[in-house]
Amino acid sequence: MPACIFCKIIKGESPASLVFEDDNCLAFMDIQPVNPGHVLVIPRRHAVSLADMNAEECARLFSAAHALAAAVRASGLRCEGVNLLLADGEAAGQEVFHVHVHVFPRFAGDGFGFTYGPEYAILPERRELDEQARKIRSALTPAVGP
Ligand code: 5GP
Ligand code: ZN
Repeated sequence: MPACIFCKIIKGESPASLVFEDDNCLAFMDIQPVNPGHVLVIPRRHAVSLADMNAEECARLFSAAHALAAAVRASGLRCEGVNLLLADGEAAGQEVFHVHVHVFPRFAGDGFGFTYGPEYAILPERRELDEQARKIRSALTPAVGP
């Protein structure tokens, strides 16, 4: 495995502005924030993708992200809303291949936004949504299923 920058932060070999840590995860400031107050929450155990994490590890990661979203709102930093974002895979925009949840404050006119493809304006028919739902439902693992 090539040197992972987030593993180096965990080991204290690379500097970071720490916000939170427990035995499962770590949260620190992003060096290139979308807005001031942009936090990254990562699992201590190196995992490239969500698929490499078990349900318990994920639950604890997202629980920390939940608490950090509340802390960002209460911090006094400019914050009218919060985005939680996780890029899982290169096509999803992942650039650092150690799972991380972005938690960052948003405010009107901050310039951040999502862009959509040309098909976005065309709403799918119900039968297409039902078919997609069927496929995803049948792929659900017992760990997350009903
Ligand atoms: P991704 O595109 O993979 O979802 O986001 C990676 C994030 O990691 C980016 O927002 C980038 O600014 C941040 N990042 C990359 N290298 C470092 C680093 O060495 N330290 C910190 N704190 N953040 C980093
Ligand atoms: Zn790592």
